[in-house]
Amino acid sequence: MASHLMNTYNRLPVSFTHGEGVWLWDEAGNKYLDALAGIAVSGLGHNHAGLVRAISEQAARVIHTSNIYEVRLQSELGDALCAVSGMDEAFFCNSGAEANEAAIKLARLYGHRNGVDNAAVIVMEKAWHGRTLATLSATGSRKAQAGFEPLMSGFIRVPYNDAAAVRQAGDNNRSVVAVLMEVLQGEGGIHVADAEYVRFLRQICDERGWLLMIDEVQSGIGRTGKWFGYQHAGVHPDVVTLAKGLASGVPIGACLASGKAAGVFGPGNHGTTFGGGPLVCAAGLATLKAIEDERLMANAAEMGNLIRGGLRDELEGVKGVVDIRGMGLMIGVELDRPCGDLVKRALAAGLLINVTSDKVVRLLPPLVIGADEAREVVRRLAPLVRAFLQQP
Ligand code: PLP
Repeated sequence: MASHLMNTYNRLPVSFTHGEGVWLWDEAGNKYLDALAGIAVSGLGHNHAGLVRAISEQAARVIHTSNIYEVRLQSELGDALCAVSGMDEAFFCNSGAEANEAAIKLARLYGHRNGVDNAAVIVMEKAWHGRTLATLSATGSRKAQAGFEPLMSGFIRVPYNDAAAVRQAGDNNRSVVAVLMEVLQGEGGIHVADAEYVRFLRQICDERGWLLMIDEVQSGIGRTGKWFGYQHAGVHPDVVTLAKGLASGVPIGACLASGKAAGVFGPGNHGTTFGGGPLVCAAGLATLKAIEDERLMANAAEMGNLIRGGLRDELEGVKGVVDIRGMGLMIGVELDRPCGDLVKRALAAGLLINVTSDKVVRLLPPLVIGADEAREVVRRLAPLVRAFLQQP
């Protein structure tokens, strides 16, 4: 029978029924090692006891009220996130794109309040910020944008890791109000910003009164070995956006603000029906607690080193392997050719991975992954990559 779903995905022919830790089972009973975590979402793995309890207990109490009332758990999650991020206030929504929409709107309002009518935001090549019209316009993928023109104006794109380009963009355009960037680009192919470059961005934003807005939708919530990627560079952003791992799979987004970005939104400036409801906030609080209680940030750093080290031992010097890189459990293996086919081969070998930017094998395992499981990722992946590169 023809599917009634819109044809927006080239789906792999597998459907999972249940999981445990880093393992998933499909409808036929086959077992898979999940090295993708639903694209950086299921940081606690599958069927995490504390998370399941928090969601079940909250579902039995109340699932939704409305943002026209106080939502106690939303305030608690806001407090918890501000405590670990050093930010001042939080707005909760439902996805990464919505979190970035909030950030872009905040930047524009900040600009208007400061006398800039045509507020512009500097964004990066290869950036990924979402698929709504504003975030798609901020995204640096022509492939994703094609056909959806006219895109939104108000974005100035510069090469990543290029300080001079940012300075020049600011010199050429007096309407700049903010820089929006990922400290570790995920969809763009696992590119890590130099810490010096991130510190330069902080400095130029301070000098020129711009907002430094960091998209931590993929890199945040412990994945890089710290709560947030920007903490590796020792900077303090004005705006941080989050989603994916924040509530371990219950849909959530968050836009955090501090300093001159705090207090920009007032009643009526922004809002959402579902955002920050009791159920998702219970999941978010349980996620943050588990990350702390189970030392998952330290684990992400250790297991990331183990996997990258293992892949280097197995693949470095192999013809066709360009680079093995990343931070914590955000790992990329760049090949010299398109390698989307590896996703299917890995699936057949019981391993869930992803390929991004055509040529980069991406691993985003749950933060709970253990050493044996991390070694198993390498043991399953390395021969597949080698065989793929050897084929004529
Ligand atoms: N920002 C980054 C860095 C992302 O990686 C993504 C999704 O991959 C998004 C934003 C968009 O998030 P969502 O798909 O939840 O809208």
